[in-house]
Parts: sequence; structure tokens; C-alpha cells
Amino acid sequence: MTKKEALIIGMGISGCVAARLLADAGYQVSCFERESHVGGALFDEVRPNGISVQSHGPHIFHTDKDHVYQFLKRFGSFYPYRHRVLVEIKGKTVPLPLNANSLEILFGSSQKDELLSRLKRHFPEQKRILIDQLIASSDSLLIDLGRYMIENVLINGINKRDDSDFAAADDSYMNDAYVDISTDDCYYTDSIQAMPRDGFTELLNTMISHPGITIYTDMDAFSRITLLPHSSTVLLDGMPFSGRVIITTSLDRLFDCCYGALEYRTSKITFQDMDSDTTRDGAVTVSPKGKNCIRTTESKLITLQEAPGKTTLCMESPYFSIANSLDEPFEPERSEENLKRHAQYMELCHNYPSISLLGRTAHYRNLSIAQCVEEAIECITSLK
Ligand SMILES: Cc1cc2nc3c(=O)[nH]c(=O)nc-3n(C[C@H](O)[C@H](O)[C@H](O)COP(=O)(O)OP(=O)(O)OC[C@H]3O[C@@H](n4cnc5c(N)ncnc54)[C@H](O)[C@@H]3O)c2cc1C
Repeated sequence: MTKKEALIIGMGISGCVAARLLADAGYQVSCFERESHVGGALFDEVRPNGISVQSHGPHIFHTDKDHVYQFLKRFGSFYPYRHRVLVEIKGKTVPLPLNANSLEILFGSSQKDELLSRLKRHFPEQKRILIDQLIASSDSLLIDLGRYMIENVLINGINKRDDSDFAAADDSYMNDAYVDISTDDCYYTDSIQAMPRDGFTELLNTMISHPGITIYTDMDAFSRITLLPHSSTVLLDGMPFSGRVIITTSLDRLFDCCYGALEYRTSKITFQDMDSDTTRDGAVTVSPKGKNCIRTTESKLITLQEAPGKTTLCMESPYFSIANSLDEPFEPERSEENLKRHAQYMELCHNYPSISLLGRTAHYRNLSIAQCVEEAIECITSLK
């Protein structure tokens, strides 16, 4: 019997989950990764001072889907983790999403009580209310709160494209655009919030450690793969490849950018090692008006690493646009033009029955870690 074969392009979490499930199902899986390591956005490393950091900024695992968590736990243990985020507004630092505590610090006790009573009256079923719901309400005080949040909480260029488009659309892991009526300072509300004890990179390396999986790092997949449009054939090193092809990378390069390059937003990340214990109250501090830094993360508060007298801060610059997925494509620049281009590339993909798309870059939308895992499980299960 001939061995079932599969190719995977890109070894972030989407590619790693797919590789493992295919290998478990008896496929011989070849994986191409452009970087010198697997992990993609979830790559973590150890600083010279011994502090573990997430190289692409903070990534917190959260989900309500137990089967997603159970799958990941096959490859390493997790510790419970409650993510606490603060936002700097006009010289005050308050919990994010804004909650009852934040409203009290920002507006005083009686104004907070008035806001909470109106929030509960207008949205009796909700614990968290989105900015666009506030703006669409008939209550002028709540509309003002919504406008205040657009002005002071949302980071221009991350979750606010312009003043007429303020919803946290398509941002499944960003909770900045909500107000929470409780005093709970936790950033996420999901029933499962946890982090891998040895970091995501270790977890993913364990996941792909399987005799059926071969990894080629430092390998730009598009130097090995060619598409023949007339016969809907995928060539690997010039020879027809008849197995399943899983693509987790930007679609424009797959088709030589024939409809133009898809644009992304990215950020420059720098680290600062310091000789001190923890410096902050929350793992992440957001500075929406920051000129050089819009988010500061104290890694130790996420990893819960014991390291007396040492800490490392991760600073993210304001986002800027790139028209090239060769740089670090953080977030899709979902303008009408880019979405149209992406739809055209999707159309081209549909001509190749052996190709499946997975993950945030191929779909050109923000997906959480858990959503990527769930999608990969569903996709590979349907192929087996
Ligand atoms: C700033 C930021 C913060 C986030 N925070 C959170 C969070 O707190 N919680 C959460 O749940 N989610 C978060 N996310 C989302 C989460 O990071 C992603 O959904 C998930 O990691 C995406 O995994 P992926 O495998 O789809 O893509 P990626 O991790 O981007 O992997 C794609 C891989 O493909 C490789 N590649 C690209 N081109 C080629 C090529 N030509 N040949 C070979 N390989 C190639 C890349 O090097 C990369 O390794 C965040 C995302 C961003 C951008």
C-alpha cells in the first residue's frame, strides 16, 4: 500500500497541530518553515539574564472549548493563569477592559455608580458591553462613555481604523473595546485560561516530535513549490505532488502576487533586561497615546518565573504597515482593497483540490491560538 503524504507550509501552531494529526493518522508529513525554528508568532526564547520571553509579544491561551485544551495538554502541562492588563489614561493607570474599578478611578464614585446602573438597565443580560453597543444606545451618558473609550482606550492602528469603524471587529483575542460591569480585573472571560509550563515553543516541539514528521527549517516553501494552473497540479521540486498540501502562510506569494501584495500591520519589538524585581501591577500595560511604545509586557508576570533581582520588559512600537509578508506580518490590514485581493487569491486556491488553508495569515484575519487549534483539528479530522 502506498504511504499517504502531506506537505505543510509554515510551522506556527496551525502547521504544528496539522502535522501531528496527519502523522497520527498515518501520513508521512514534510514541513517547510522559513525561520530557523518552529513556533511562528508563539516562539519564545530565554534572555541572557535567564528570563523567558515571548519573542513576538504576549500570547495568552484562553478558550471555552475543552477539546482544544485537552489536545494541547497531550504535549505538555499547563498552569492556570489570569491575565491582568492595565491601560494608561491621562496619567492614571487602570484595569483593561475598563471595569467598575477603572470607572471609579477615572470618573469618581458617584459617576461610576450612575454609569453602572445605566449599563445594567440598557444591557441587563451582559457582563461586558462593546463600544459600538454603547454608541448605538439611546443614552447620552453611555454614548459619551463609548466616545471616551474610542479616544482614550483604543490604540489607533490596532483596533481602531478610523472614527467610523471603532468596533473590535475580527479581534478575537483583544478585549480592549469592552466595558465590564464587574470588579473582576481579568482580561479574558473564557472558562479556560492557562499557559504551557515550559513555554509554547517546547510544547510545539514535543507536538511535532513524531517519526512521521520531517521538518525543514530555514526553508522558504515557495522555492520548492510551484502551482500549475491549467492542470490544478502542485509541483514539489518540479515533480507532481499528489498528497495533501496545507498552507498556513500569506496567499499572495503562492500566486506570485498576481493581484498585488496583501498588506499587514506590524510592530517593532524590543526587550530591556533590568536588575530589579517586578516593576508592575499587571503583566501588560497599554499606552494608547505612546509615541514609541504602545504596550509594555513584564514577561515574568506571565511565566511566573522565580528570578529575584532580575526582570525583562518587552516593548512594542506603534504599528506600521508593510506590503510584504516577508517581514513579520502581525495583523492583516483589512481594507476593502486588501479583502478583495484576498478573496481573489482564495478563488485561485479553490482550483487546487489538494490544498487546504489554515491559520491567521492564510485566512487573512485575526484568530486566537485556540481558534487556530480548533480549525486545524476540524480540518484534519475531515480529511482522514
Ligand atoms: C501581536 C499579536 C498578539 C496576539 N496575542 C494573542 C493572545 O494573547 N492570545 C491568543 O489566543 N492569540 C493571540 N494572537 C493570535 C495568535 O498569535 C495567532 O492566532 C497564532 O499564533 C497564529 O498561528 P499560525 O500558525 O496561524 O500563524 P503563524 O504563527 O504566523 O505561523 C506561520 C508560520 O509560517 C512561516 N512562513 C511564512 N512564510 C513562509 C514561507 N514562504 N515558507 C515557509 N514558512 C513560512 C512563518 O515563519 C511562521 O512560522 C496574537 C497575534 C498577534 C499578532
